[in-house]
Amino acid sequence: MPWRSVSFEIAPRMAYDAPGASRERVAPFTATPTTATRIPMSTTLSPSARAAAPPAPHGTVRNYIGGAWAAPQAPLADVYAPATGAVIARVPLCGTADVDAAVQAAERALPAWRALPIKERVQVLFRYRSLLERDIEALTALIVEEHGKIPAEARAEIQKAIELTEFACSMPQIATGEVLEVSKGVECRIERVPVGVVASIAPFNFPSMVPHWTIPNAIVLGNCMILKPSEHVPISAGRIAELLTEAGLPAGVFNVVHGGREAVEAICDHPGIAAITFVGSTRVAQAVYRRGTANLKRVLALGGAKNHLIVMPDAEPEMTSSNVAASMSGCSGQRCMAASVMLAVGPTDAIVARVVDAARAVVAGESLGPVISREAKERIERYVTEAEEAGATVLLDGRNTVVPGKEGGFYVGATVLDHVTPEMRIAEEEVFGPVLAIVRAKSLDQALEIEARSPFGNAAAVFTERGATARYVAERATAGMVGVNVGVPVPREPFGFGGWGDSAFGVGDITGRGSIEFWTRTRKTTTKWNREAGTNWMS
Ligand code: NAD
Repeated sequence: MPWRSVSFEIAPRMAYDAPGASRERVAPFTATPTTATRIPMSTTLSPSARAAAPPAPHGTVRNYIGGAWAAPQAPLADVYAPATGAVIARVPLCGTADVDAAVQAAERALPAWRALPIKERVQVLFRYRSLLERDIEALTALIVEEHGKIPAEARAEIQKAIELTEFACSMPQIATGEVLEVSKGVECRIERVPVGVVASIAPFNFPSMVPHWTIPNAIVLGNCMILKPSEHVPISAGRIAELLTEAGLPAGVFNVVHGGREAVEAICDHPGIAAITFVGSTRVAQAVYRRGTANLKRVLALGGAKNHLIVMPDAEPEMTSSNVAASMSGCSGQRCMAASVMLAVGPTDAIVARVVDAARAVVAGESLGPVISREAKERIERYVTEAEEAGATVLLDGRNTVVPGKEGGFYVGATVLDHVTPEMRIAEEEVFGPVLAIVRAKSLDQALEIEARSPFGNAAAVFTERGATARYVAERATAGMVGVNVGVPVPREPFGFGGWGDSAFGVGDITGRGSIEFWTRTRKTTTKWNREAGTNWMS
């Protein structure tokens, strides 16, 4: 049986899963430290299992259901600060009853919320945007603590959350209906109506940005939402709930349920949830897509990635090397848009050398944060070792990186391998760390063949000074997001974010205009008021 650190809360269970049960309004965390010990996940609480554990400064995070904090009786998992390895909080691994309580709260809130004109709903988002700006430094600090990102990256994530909220603020202008006189005296009108109660399941790598891919658009379009954040980074979600409430969002429109697999499966199975977005690894994205659609829900599930950057001999060396190094090492390589494989076409040794110089300038603990967990660090380092043993050349080695003063942190230094072959695991699988595998290609067509072989299809990029080469690649790359001299080709609003192949399951994009289709249904109303128009084929 797999072992993981789990603890149980001693506080009695709150009876919030009964409809109408009262809930206390308290802080998002329990004030008193709980006891924790290393016990198997399936073991029930026993006094002997309550070995002393160090107190977590953030206590135990709580669900946010129906406008109140709720402390579920669920097994607890430790939340680590990746920069130090210290336990900073405990997160409940909730299940069916907690998801059901959130769905009931959302169902209670839905009729009044969806009945508001969108122009009124959007006022909450305008105020929320100001609150994000007001609290940007505190929100940044929280992400630095729970995720480990360096402050500049954490701040950029909040700035992106602000931009996503701004896009939602434009919904009254763009999510409009249509009306047309389809025959004499007969009018057809299409309007957008919300889907209902919806859920958003998030990964660890962007504790604020990825939830904001879905929250503002879904709620401004009239839905009520349940967010299931990653159990690795559960704290920011509580602040999102608090700020939305401060902005005036009615109770129950936005709810947070913590947990892992059990909570996700409960979301997939709950008959009260009409639509689910998922962002995470491909294996889980497939499972969520299958289970959610089998339960007749609308599902958009974004998965993992393996992004290829094609570097041509004519690429501008300075811009290319800094872009490639920033793409592979930014957010410690824990981005679904990170450069993972560099396809160096023809004589590109000088550019390779500059990429290594640029990557060497990235300093762990200063300009490079840790990876999310000890397991992630070990997994990433294994990929590097295995590739080295298979014949790759390690040009820059970030294994065994220790940051002075943060010896317990989960750091992997920027790593560059050359002469990786397309068959090596490091060239095929998602590594999700600050590691660049350089594969040499004899021609552009060979590079494109290697890119096309990957089942993932999130991003691809080409670095060249020739417009014709750029166009050639853009037309052939098998990825949903293509960069030309851009290492992280994230489409910004109003354009939508979404990959192809094993990087996305379902129809459409998760952000931008495309998200309007996902979060709404269309009602088509055909009307005839003009009696003089007589009878036509419809009447
Ligand atoms: P993950 O798949 O482990 O977890 C994602 C979510 O699923 C979490 O909320 C987690 O609690 C839940 N979960 C985990 N295991 C589960 C299981 N067996 N059954 C049901 N639910 C489960 O992903 P992660 O490690 O948190 O995030 C990193 C992954 O997310 C990478 O693969 C990355 O490429 C991907 N990602 C993709 C995009 C995109 O836009 N395509 C964006 C960000 C991250």
